[in-house]
Amino acid sequence: MAEYMGLGEHVGRLRALSFDIGAYRPPSEGGSASLLLRVSENCPWNRCTFCEMYKGQRFVYRPVAEITADIDRVAAMRDEIAAISFELGMAGMISRDLATALVAEGRDLIGDPGFVTVFNWLASGGRTAFLQDADSMSMRPREYIAVLQHLRQTLRSLTRVTTYTRSKTLSKRKPEDLLMIREAGLDRFHIGLETGDDELLGVVSKGVTSVEQIEGGRKAVSAGFQVSMYWMPDLGGRERWQQHAENTARVLSAINPHYIRSRPLVPRPGTPLYEDVARGHLQLSSPHERLQELQRMIGGLDVTSKVCFDHAMNAWADHRGGLLFRRNYEGYQFPQEKPLLLERIREGLAVDESMHVHARKLMAAQSL
Ligand code: SF4
Repeated sequence: MAEYMGLGEHVGRLRALSFDIGAYRPPSEGGSASLLLRVSENCPWNRCTFCEMYKGQRFVYRPVAEITADIDRVAAMRDEIAAISFELGMAGMISRDLATALVAEGRDLIGDPGFVTVFNWLASGGRTAFLQDADSMSMRPREYIAVLQHLRQTLRSLTRVTTYTRSKTLSKRKPEDLLMIREAGLDRFHIGLETGDDELLGVVSKGVTSVEQIEGGRKAVSAGFQVSMYWMPDLGGRERWQQHAENTARVLSAINPHYIRSRPLVPRPGTPLYEDVARGHLQLSSPHERLQELQRMIGGLDVTSKVCFDHAMNAWADHRGGLLFRRNYEGYQFPQEKPLLLERIREGLAVDESMHVHARKLMAAQSL
């Protein structure tokens, strides 16, 4: 006869299984409530002048055994949560009612990031995982493959595994290693391209050249990965907007990634770029000037990618005061929708600039 365990004992077990996760994941990995797992901690480069994400935090290379132990904790939590659901007469369902019951017994679980990521992941069907932090491909390929194999064998409900990496790191990987990593179960890379302009790459200390960006991106596409690349409108300010737009289009066209995502510059306090803006060394563009930059970049794209504006900072207004661009994760399918997107940009340029400023304030307030 199965022995009934009190809820308090179950909650105690969940607490004991706690593990650490990182702070960042792409928004497109949030909608599906991806399981977050740390392959390494923080950023091995950590010098980009616009980035505040890991400043002051040391890069940690995690051993395989530590990562696989986290994966085992996830599996144990999954089984524990399912057992609680059955014991409470919820037929194994991972629901809001189950969360309420668990939190009523152990309020601290709400503040346990490991528990929260596992619960949300299960509630969404347990399908996707995101490997953290900034550059998981900095792990030695054989070790990475061992981690991926353990992940796929242990959490069999996973249908997609994705991660952040740097173009520079990809450019250094051998094609055969990339193929084996793909076969071991990694599906998609999220890569911060920012710009394809070599001068600007140097100015912002991105630590990569456009040749390496193209090499890394092409290697990833050839090995069968989905590639999602982020570029940063206004990174070059008023001084370098044309070269930024033209060379970003050149590099993205050479790679032809699956997704191109716009992440307009937001100067973050505590970064060198923020100081540059404060001292007047970098002059930010107006909403219309940013649209002109967008027009130049989009006009130069020769790709079959999906071009996306899935971030609150892409808040330009159309003539009715609505959002100029679709704000979903699938965006505009190129080349078919390129004329439509260019038409939207022309509409945005015909709207009074004050409407764009208002739209941006509105979106910024909503995303707080
Ligand atoms: S590589 Fe990415 S995470 Fe690292 S400093 Fe640059 S932008 Fe930030």
